[in-house]
Amino acid sequence: MHASPNVDPAEIAHFNRMADMWWDPHGKMGQLHAINDLRLAFITDRIGVAAPRVVDVGCGGGILAEALARHGASVTGIDLSDLSLKIARQHAERGGLDIDYRYLDVETLAASEAHAFDAVTCMEMLEHVPHPERVIAACARLLKPGGMAFFSTINRTFKAFAFAIVAGEYILGLLPRGTHSYAKLIKPVEMRRWAGAAGLEFRAVASLMYNPLTRRFRVAPDREDINYMACFATRS
Ligand code: SAH
Repeated sequence: MHASPNVDPAEIAHFNRMADMWWDPHGKMGQLHAINDLRLAFITDRIGVAAPRVVDVGCGGGILAEALARHGASVTGIDLSDLSLKIARQHAERGGLDIDYRYLDVETLAASEAHAFDAVTCMEMLEHVPHPERVIAACARLLKPGGMAFFSTINRTFKAFAFAIVAGEYILGLLPRGTHSYAKLIKPVEMRRWAGAAGLEFRAVASLMYNPLTRRFRVAPDREDINYMACFATRS
């Protein structure tokens, strides 16, 4: 573990409690399954390398890591929820997927494997750590020159509070209550500032828009709404 750990034990306890739910598409983690194809396309459309080496930071049960592996990437997944990693390893093995899951924080990985990856994905994780800017900086260090970083999180706006937390967790039950706290949500301008300070250049942003009638998500390019994802590249 890094000398000054950037982890909130309450968050890890929450994801350990949820670990059995990762692979139930109709359960409490269902939203991650519902958005997975959309975020996979956002990512794979932008990695200009065949069979890329990708690290998924805060991989949880491996929903995105598996999709990346099936798409031809060589995937390393790191997380600090040991119960989630256990589920991730079991699920990958059952599906015949060779994914390198490690109980590791991103700063420790960046110290030992700097400039080793074509892409870093860090989805729905930054809003769960005390210092997201440190995670972004470590992600940047993991990248080869020309490598791409992908981050997704929830905007810190009143609209996001109303829809993602109040409606999403308490009214519609799209995700477990207590998953998100407002103060830890991240504005796109903050994400871009931290990425810039880490030597990353902004490339693209898109939002995942939820339609409560169809219960489906779609991608709105160039939009910074509630659930957004952004792509950055190392300065070459
Ligand atoms: N990225 C996955 C899971 C998102 S849930 C997906 O989108 O499908 C957030 C994940 O971040 C959880 O698995 C949680 O255990 C992990 N996490 C929280 N704090 C972390 C930290 N400091 N280091 C690594 N992983 C962390």
